[in-house]
Amino acid sequence: MLTRRAWLGGALGAAAAPGQTKKPNIIVIVADDLGSADLGFTGAKDIPTPHLDALARSGVHCTDGYVSHPFCSPTRAGLLTGRYQQRFGHENNPRYDRTDATAGLPLDQVTLPQTLSAAGYRTGIVGKWHLGATPEMHPMKRGFREMYGFLGGGHDYFQQQLDGDPREYLIPIERDGKPEKFDGYLTDAFSKEAAAFVDRAKPAEPFFLYLAYNAPHTPVQVPPAYEARLSGIADEGRRKLGAMIVALDDGVGQVMRTLKSKGLDKNTLVFFFSDNGGPTQVTKCSNAPFRGHKGEVYEGGIRVPFVVSWPGTLDADRKYNWMVSSLDVFATACAAAGAPLPAGRHLDSVNLIPHLQGLRKGGAHVRLMWRMGGGTAHAMREGDFKLVQRKGQPPELYSLKTDIGESRNIAVERKDIADSMAERLARWDKELIAPLFQSPQPAAQKKKKA
Ligand code: CA
Repeated sequence: MLTRRAWLGGALGAAAAPGQTKKPNIIVIVADDLGSADLGFTGAKDIPTPHLDALARSGVHCTDGYVSHPFCSPTRAGLLTGRYQQRFGHENNPRYDRTDATAGLPLDQVTLPQTLSAAGYRTGIVGKWHLGATPEMHPMKRGFREMYGFLGGGHDYFQQQLDGDPREYLIPIERDGKPEKFDGYLTDAFSKEAAAFVDRAKPAEPFFLYLAYNAPHTPVQVPPAYEARLSGIADEGRRKLGAMIVALDDGVGQVMRTLKSKGLDKNTLVFFFSDNGGPTQVTKCSNAPFRGHKGEVYEGGIRVPFVVSWPGTLDADRKYNWMVSSLDVFATACAAAGAPLPAGRHLDSVNLIPHLQGLRKGGAHVRLMWRMGGGTAHAMREGDFKLVQRKGQPPELYSLKTDIGESRNIAVERKDIADSMAERLARWDKELIAPLFQSPQPAAQKKKKA
């Protein structure tokens, strides 16, 4: 068996502390619908996020971090498989239905927790699943040995119904597959569970924790104590949203403190990002300076706050300006864990560690692609050029280097670039399949949430 130093291509060098010869723990923290400019380290002046700022300072802030989809479930499907989720038809949000075996992450896909579990990791999910609600699609059947959270796409932050009420946002909070009563605020409950999961760490057993907060996704609900901390924000919507982010930030602080108290902070690889851009049309979030929002392939829908921290292996207080993707978590985690990548399938995931260490010239990706709605919109970023194709509209080309806000379409004047990028995008599209299931209709969703 290879040593970890060899897995990482000798990259650790003299930086490897004696305590780091063990397999590292891995924590993936995902926020839900967080605006790209709503954290201190991404430019927010009104919402204090000292713990996330400290996490960013402890490692690498990837300024050009992307998710593989502009909304919830497909991003999570890509994250947990390391594959463009359209390769296996997971291009929409699954309807919450305990009997619909098509609505969720297809069972033939190999997940990151399955891979890490096979490599000796204790695997746990805390928070939102949103990858199918049938018994076969349950997180504990997809590689997680421990679970605290809910199966749907969002949840009320104070209430649940244990009586079989089918409304998605009121379904039971589960522990290891069994409904469990909870009191208090859901974000706090997830933080506490995540810290407890870390606290149960044993020296001989590395862990993988997927901490998938549903904050700050709607409904905008927050205890008065958090809101009081943002009393300087006059706008009520912004204040409440900010307070939800403060609660999330407190939770990240709690998890990181627990990690430190166990002496594990230097042997733990931590990722943080949002599953998509902020829904500026719904909440008082900000995606500045990007154009667009959740549900769109403009930067505002797909470019997110993105941090990778691994003290001792990655330098602190670094910025990485090449593209990285949420798809890369898979290969990065497997390389760190010494786990073999799943065989017999195309992965779109890159081990970021040598790139973030500055040992590889050039970017981790030549290009990244997006497709939503089975083809209602496509996008590709290649270098500093961004091609956007919306069905029935003329092609759009932007130079992100000079036009970060995607405001000046240069597809006509740079037709050569637009055409050649379109050709590569079409080639990628041919590798994909049609969506296996459709998102629930907005009317039905509204009724469920009501
Ligand atoms: Ca989301």
